[in-house]
Amino acid sequence: MSKTFKDLELNKQLVTAVEELGYTEPTEIQEKAIPLIMAGHDVLGIAQTGTGKTAAYLLPVLMKIKYAQGSQARALVLAPTRELVMQIHQAAVELGKYTDLRMVALYGGLGPKTQIENLKQGVDLIVATPGRFLDLYRMGEIPVKGLNYLVLDEADKMMDMGFMPQIRKILEVIPRKRKNLLFSATFQPRVEALSEEFLEAPLKIEITPSATTAATVEQAVYRLPNFKTKINLLGYLFENTAIQRAIIFCRTKTVADNVFKFLERKVVGAKNIRILHANKGQNTRINSIEDFKSGEVQVLVATDVAARGIDVSGVSHVINFDVPLIYEDYVHRIGRTGRARAEGVAWTFILKHEEYHFGKIEALIRTQIPELEIPSGVKIEETPFEENQEMLKAIDNQRKKEDPTFQGAFHEKKAKNMKSTSKAKPSAKRRR
Ligand code: AMP
Repeated sequence: MSKTFKDLELNKQLVTAVEELGYTEPTEIQEKAIPLIMAGHDVLGIAQTGTGKTAAYLLPVLMKIKYAQGSQARALVLAPTRELVMQIHQAAVELGKYTDLRMVALYGGLGPKTQIENLKQGVDLIVATPGRFLDLYRMGEIPVKGLNYLVLDEADKMMDMGFMPQIRKILEVIPRKRKNLLFSATFQPRVEALSEEFLEAPLKIEITPSATTAATVEQAVYRLPNFKTKINLLGYLFENTAIQRAIIFCRTKTVADNVFKFLERKVVGAKNIRILHANKGQNTRINSIEDFKSGEVQVLVATDVAARGIDVSGVSHVINFDVPLIYEDYVHRIGRTGRARAEGVAWTFILKHEEYHFGKIEALIRTQIPELEIPSGVKIEETPFEENQEMLKAIDNQRKKEDPTFQGAFHEKKAKNMKSTSKAKPSAKRRR
């Protein structure tokens, strides 16, 4: 039996927030790291993005610092890029929603005024890039004596980006007596050396990418331009292929609701379909699963999170309407088909901003999934302006995450225009 968040002895405020985010059960790194951090150990976590590592350290740290206290921060998370700092800060705000903890994000690329004001109002947890943290510390804006939790997230990347001198400096000025957590996607000798230097009797947790997908499952992807075309393709596939029992995975409740409504009304009829997501009551959810398991209904639409841990196997088709963000979920989902030598089919629908995540999945399973052509009977819709902007924004963020010197597509355009007048040098501005 896998653990629940309650088993991890988190307090009610945190459990409620986790439930609201729709996390039904802890991921592997959360299950392993949370009890160790709660017990007061230094932890070295080797885990990639997409494993749930952020919540794995934030939850126990928030639990430990518990409620707003004094004016000085008690926990500091250092991360390599401004985008990552913003993401971690956002996660902390969401997870800490039912606490009164004050979280401040510090990063470069803009003036420090607002950040200083935020600090002055009192803070419990700081998420920062090393450079900006040090700048503000030197300006006398960050009292550090209260810090007793330090997290280095994506430590390998911070080293790659040459942040080691700043990190060393920060280690010199913060209290010696503190808990340290170090997360890194890789465990190279440099990371090992850093962990020896900075962690005290650490316990190491390693999340090894789980293996391969079943050979009896035929996997394929469809590359599509927008949401509406995904819907059209889904309808087409139901009408033109023999789908006996399918689970359709969607990233959010809204998407799941839309997919469900479309199939229910236009394609399979109410008797043949159920939906499963965190907003549905426990009974509805159990009934949905039972109806599907018994074979009474043909299709189950589920959000990524609601579907974690449910045990339904022997389906003929798994359709990933969206690419999962917990990359291992891809493997687990595919495992639901193709059991006991039965052939299974797994299709994944990919929009352009999902390529990045799918690439990571392919790396994880060390397989390149073949692409199928969109059947000619599927209507290709125009992409609405807003949807396109959203996708481009997401792609920009992904590129920034991979390459912190990347200034974004709009900057690229500007730089190009500038070239004709002045010989635009590559931007010398240092990112923090
Ligand atoms: P991370 O590896 O921390 O970047 O997390 C990847 C994604 O997984 C984020 O979108 C999180 O919101 C989500 N996530 C984290 N923990 C869980 C969980 N226990 N169940 C479902 N999703 C999660």
